[in-house]
Amino acid sequence: MQLFIRVNYLFTIVCVLLLSSCRQPKEPVLLKIAGETQGTYYAITYYADDSISLHPAIDSLLHRFDSTASTYKPNSIISRLNNNDPHARADEMFGIIFRKSMEVSEKTYGAFDITVGPLVNAWGFGLSNRLKMDQHIVDSLKPLVGYHKVKLNNGKLLKTDPRIRIDFNAIAQGYAVDVVSAFLDSKGIQSYIIDIGGEVLARRSKPGGEKWSVAIEMPTRQADDERTVQAVVMLQDMAISTSGSYRKFYEENGIRYSHTIDPASGYPVVHSLLSVSVMASDCMTADAYATALMVMGVEKGKEFLKHSKGLEAYFIYSAPDSSMKTYCTKGFEKLLKKDN
Ligand code: ADP
Ligand code: MG
Repeated sequence: MQLFIRVNYLFTIVCVLLLSSCRQPKEPVLLKIAGETQGTYYAITYYADDSISLHPAIDSLLHRFDSTASTYKPNSIISRLNNNDPHARADEMFGIIFRKSMEVSEKTYGAFDITVGPLVNAWGFGLSNRLKMDQHIVDSLKPLVGYHKVKLNNGKLLKTDPRIRIDFNAIAQGYAVDVVSAFLDSKGIQSYIIDIGGEVLARRSKPGGEKWSVAIEMPTRQADDERTVQAVVMLQDMAISTSGSYRKFYEENGIRYSHTIDPASGYPVVHSLLSVSVMASDCMTADAYATALMVMGVEKGKEFLKHSKGLEAYFIYSAPDSSMKTYCTKGFEKLLKKDN
């Protein structure tokens, strides 16, 4: 009797094993995760087995990211280093953003510069309210600006002046996308698109072979206008980032001051470039160069792109007659959806 039970038991196990080995792998289904981070939204669309829940892990990843790179969090590593906390040390993520920032500063001849912090604050785009700005204040802050004035040494931020403050806001969002992308890769997710506040990265195509599509917004004059689509790009294994002067700005005496600061002059940029979208293989690179090109403007930007491998860009600018014009690199044009 006991033997019969044992044989029967074994038979059941073998059947279960056989059945499970014959089971077809589950078809990946379309899944979406959305939430808030870095004072903006995030949205991830991916194809996977629906039994895996990634939402809590992504939320905590982004939360950890903010506690390194957000200037809006008083206890983040960047805030503590800015405030000269002697116990603060840079972590790995901080180091990656810092080194990339220095690289982009070198390549853009200082158009991109994370030491713009004091100017960003004084012009009212950071932590404090806008000062009554004049040349005198700009001149007093400019000695605090210059990427050569900061170094990272064994986790310590060395500054030539303790009043220097660094600002990762032009690059951190892009890097957050790359961090989420690495996490999804580690989970074996094959096909996805990540969007953090307009910084986007698409991995592979959709299961049917169709590329992911990303809309580029029309830079409308009214900041709170409804968003209108200017163009659509078809993305696969690429990142795209858009910087603009049309959303975060203020107007005074008919002049529009954008939140992008020209480190050379100490003033917000006020040229004809309304928005620039940059494509690169990773989102941190795309984000940083989008800001740098915003500083350069249309003509200098076009010239710069001629010598920049791996970067493609799309400019939207206003012509002297106030009409809206566009310019894009050949590589970018190839990825534009044709029927719009
Ligand atoms: P958006 O995509 O919203 O246009 P960006 O990626 O261009 O934003 O980042 C703009 C932010 O970067 C500003 O709010 C400021 O904090 C910071 N910043 C402004 N000018 C520069 C600059 N020349 N180099 C690096 N960071 C800058
Ligand atoms: Mg940027």
